[in-house]
Amino acid sequence: MDKYDVCIIGGGITGCGIARDLALRGLNIILLEKGDLSVGTTGRSHGLIHSGARYAVTDLESAKQCAEENEILRKIAGSFIEPTGGLFVLFKGDNYDYVDKFVDGCKKAGIPFEELSGEEIIKIEPNLSKDVELGFKVRDAVVDPFLLTIANAYSARLEGARIETYAKVVDIKDEDIFYIQNGKKKKVKAEVIINATGVWCNEVAKLRGFEIELKTYKGSILVYSGRAVKHVVNHLRAPSQGDIILPHKKTTLVGTTFLEEKNLEKFKIYRHEVELLKKEGERKVPLIGKMKLIRAYAGLRPIVGKEKERGFTLIKKENFITVTGGKFCTYRLMAEKASDLVVKILGVKTCCRTAEEPIIPDDDRGFREEIKRYYKKYGDLAKKIIPYSGYRGKVCICENVSSGEIIFAVKELFAKNIRDIRRRTRIGMGYCQGRRCTLEAAITLYSNGFDAKEVQKQIINGLRERWRGIIPVFEESIKEAKLIEAVYSCAGNYNHIKKYIPGLVKFL
Ligand SMILES: Cc1cc2nc3c(=O)[nH]c(=O)nc-3n(C[C@H](O)[C@H](O)[C@H](O)COP(=O)(O)OP(=O)(O)OC[C@H]3O[C@@H](n4cnc5c(N)ncnc54)[C@H](O)[C@@H]3O)c2cc1C
Repeated sequence: MDKYDVCIIGGGITGCGIARDLALRGLNIILLEKGDLSVGTTGRSHGLIHSGARYAVTDLESAKQCAEENEILRKIAGSFIEPTGGLFVLFKGDNYDYVDKFVDGCKKAGIPFEELSGEEIIKIEPNLSKDVELGFKVRDAVVDPFLLTIANAYSARLEGARIETYAKVVDIKDEDIFYIQNGKKKKVKAEVIINATGVWCNEVAKLRGFEIELKTYKGSILVYSGRAVKHVVNHLRAPSQGDIILPHKKTTLVGTTFLEEKNLEKFKIYRHEVELLKKEGERKVPLIGKMKLIRAYAGLRPIVGKEKERGFTLIKKENFITVTGGKFCTYRLMAEKASDLVVKILGVKTCCRTAEEPIIPDDDRGFREEIKRYYKKYGDLAKKIIPYSGYRGKVCICENVSSGEIIFAVKELFAKNIRDIRRRTRIGMGYCQGRRCTLEAAITLYSNGFDAKEVQKQIINGLRERWRGIIPVFEESIKEAKLIEAVYSCAGNYNHIKKYIPGLVKFL
């Protein structure tokens, strides 16, 4: 039977960050993820690397952590980050009292900021409402949450870690971990087990006979086609719903809501959430009202302490460590603290290296001209695309994805199906939401040895997933939805698709 120093359960940013940290410390690691890497809350965040200012009034400790980690991430993962900068903006009618508290909190947390007048703000962010009274410039940035997670797993694998996806842990007995993969029950042994399963941490702790008290809150986010803002725009007020607007790749995100949600697997985005976010978005940036709303998505936050606090929790029970809560942007620190505990349990003397060492090693800086365009999307991972860069067939027009990128995602970046490929390459994330590229990606997979029946199943799963995000904003997307239906029901000979995509039947 396979035996490891540490088994990490959960392949979100926390689990992958821990895998990298421990692998760099020379430990023998396995990571088990029940779906794809980043499929949980990680892939459902805004992708905002906070300056810390959002928590400056409500949670000073988290604010400090965000501010420090923001600088570290720029150093070790700069190629995955767009340094957009952020603005905290006060609009006409907002509470001026909050401004002093905000300034005071930023100073206490060591968050750099620059005060700007309304006019100065409009100059650098012209699409903002003219109701801007004043604001502050901070060091917010935007990250690709999928790729940074995958880059951590990639780095861990380079250091010898074993990464297993679609491997659901179903039982734990002392050092034995049982998981299901491809319908088969398998077992590994590990001296230390890390539970990095986010909102699922109580489910997994129960397998080991412990309980963790946590509440889960849903946050929904709207996705608009095109970029309405250059900076991350935050509403300068006590954290509330619909506070954040940010540019993300070729889209604009408006988030988020905050509603308690007990169902971890199936949760709905309600029309009233969509309306709230639309209203908040348009109030701050009127241009948003004229932009195309393409989809909505939602994720769950695990909160162990008070509702307003965003710190992380580390719980050790014998050889079983749970790490949950926190923020995407504090993942490295969470991983460092969890890994420090692990080496203490194992009695190993090694230090954390993740605050200094770049995520993807600096081995081949000499970029070839032909892969320059990939660098913008894949950051330092683009170096690994060279063997596949000759495959230039266009798979996704909206997001400019080549067939080489599809193969790259499968061969190098742990992708197993069309949904996984989407998280890495962004196929289907653009204006048309997978209308053409789902089929094109399937053809690429088929020509590269995937079984025809399997590929057909993947088309359906891929579309079904896209459809889930279109349904909440259906009123805005009816034309595109009808076109997707036409393409796949008729031209693609997928008449039976209605059976698999309930939304299509409903709106026919
Ligand atoms: C709407 C929203 C917006 C957010 N925006 C931001 C932001 O802009 N910036 C920021 O810093 N933070 C943000 N956050 C918070 C951030 O996304 C999370 O703190 C972070 O992603 C949590 O990562 P994680 O790895 O701990 O959890 P997850 O990403 O949820 O990972 C846990 C993993 O465990 C796996 N798993 C569960 N059970 C099992 C099992 N039995 N066996 C194997 N695997 C299992 C799951 O499939 C999952 O992949 C946001 C959160 C929400 C909800």
